[in-house]
Amino acid sequence: MWGMGRLARGSWFPQGGEPGAGPERGRQPRVYSADASPGATPRGTRRGPHPGPSSARAIGSAAGGRPRPRRGRPPTERAGWPVKLRVLGAYGGTLPGKRMTCFLINDEVVIDAGSMASALTLEEQIRVRHVVLTHSHSDHVNSLPFFIENIFGRIQEPVKIHSLPACIDVVQQHLFNNAIWPDFASIPDRVLPMMEFRPAPTMATIKMAGLRITMVPVNHVVPTVGLVVEEGDKAIVFSGDTAPTQSLWAVANGLHDGVVKALLVEASFPNRMQPLADISKHLTPQQLVPEIAKCRHVCPVYAYHIKPPYLDEIRGEIEGLATDRIEIVEQDRTYEF
Ligand SMILES: [Zn+2]
Ligand SMILES: [Zn+2]
Repeated sequence: MWGMGRLARGSWFPQGGEPGAGPERGRQPRVYSADASPGATPRGTRRGPHPGPSSARAIGSAAGGRPRPRRGRPPTERAGWPVKLRVLGAYGGTLPGKRMTCFLINDEVVIDAGSMASALTLEEQIRVRHVVLTHSHSDHVNSLPFFIENIFGRIQEPVKIHSLPACIDVVQQHLFNNAIWPDFASIPDRVLPMMEFRPAPTMATIKMAGLRITMVPVNHVVPTVGLVVEEGDKAIVFSGDTAPTQSLWAVANGLHDGVVKALLVEASFPNRMQPLADISKHLTPQQLVPEIAKCRHVCPVYAYHIKPPYLDEIRGEIEGLATDRIEIVEQDRTYEF
């Protein structure tokens, strides 16, 4: 089995060092197949005429190592279909009817695990094959234990949990530690467990279920990534939890004209709480316009991760902005791009 100590700092990481530990740094993305063995060593990238995730070369799967048992469905084929983004949880906290941050893409990939166990039916949870965590805060990981328990014995291959090594370390040590919840990465056994942790460094592009997801470091109080999610010639950008940031927009700006279909940008606190937003490294509505101005793509912007007690106040502040591009994302709605 892949012990975390070996995985987190093993040869899978081409750059060495601890991803997410330092400030945002621009690097060319590298591409990993989510189906590759964790013992694989990526072989570098190619710089093309259009920088950004699409310019990176796909990394083949592992050389060497004992092949793992492979079961389950073949890779998803979705050419020509819209990207489906279902909002399971739109908020950075919870109150009745307000679920924590969680998005479902094309029925198989979940971005942040704030509410997947409470927002999806059991049948829908069984379809999930990959979970991408932007960081380790509770409003982004708390439903993971209950999701894994719900699908226990009902899936044919482990669910892949993708994130920075720092985040996965925290989730393993403080959530699936056999004290808070069982270690489902070794249950029912270590050969075919219920879930597999797949740590990846910042600027990695991970291929999964027909998507390419690039993890770009952003500006939060723990190692955190924003995400550029691509399918074919379409992309959606998620800010993650962040104060004003740069690298994410640089990566998005490297994509072709017309590719970026939506920006999802956090807006956690109302303007009057700017000092708290600053110290906790979040955004307020008054920071949204300068923030999205860093992105050259003109597309709809959806504010999310609002702290529920301030929803009405933040809605009023967003409606008062000098732009009609920004609206609050609707929980339980499925957007198609
Ligand atoms: Zn959060
Ligand atoms: Zn956070």
